[in-house]
Amino acid sequence: MDCLFCKIINGEIPSEKLYEDELVYVFRDIDPKAPTHFLIVPKEHIPSADNLEERHKDLIGHVFLVAKKICAEEGLTKGYRIVNNCKEDGGQTVEHLHFHVLGGRSLNWPPG
Ligand code: 5GP
Ligand code: ZN
Repeated sequence: MDCLFCKIINGEIPSEKLYEDELVYVFRDIDPKAPTHFLIVPKEHIPSADNLEERHKDLIGHVFLVAKKICAEEGLTKGYRIVNNCKEDGGQTVEHLHFHVLGGRSLNWPPG
């Protein structure tokens, strides 16, 4: 399949990996928007959050626990933000479900 994140997950395209298990692959964003910016990507090719099904409930809970674990390792004691951009209006550019995790500075709200 011609999917950038599937290629990163299977090692065809190199990445700075932070963590991997049977459900998710985690790596640093190539164009960081904060001092810490990594992506949590389910290994299953799910195009967007709008394609989630009942059977994915445990996977999404797992994503948030992985975020918590890696943020602790990254020293983000003051907090962080977990973001999912969903489809066109949400600003999604890679059509493989992923969660941004940003931290290391105070983040603005609301987003643009
Ligand atoms: P989206 O805009 O779909 O929410 O997020 C896609 C993210 O993937 C962007 O933040 C972008 O910087 C990141 N990205 C795109 N291509 C690559 C790549 O080849 N390697 C890594 N590590 N990140 C990428
Ligand atoms: Zn994919």
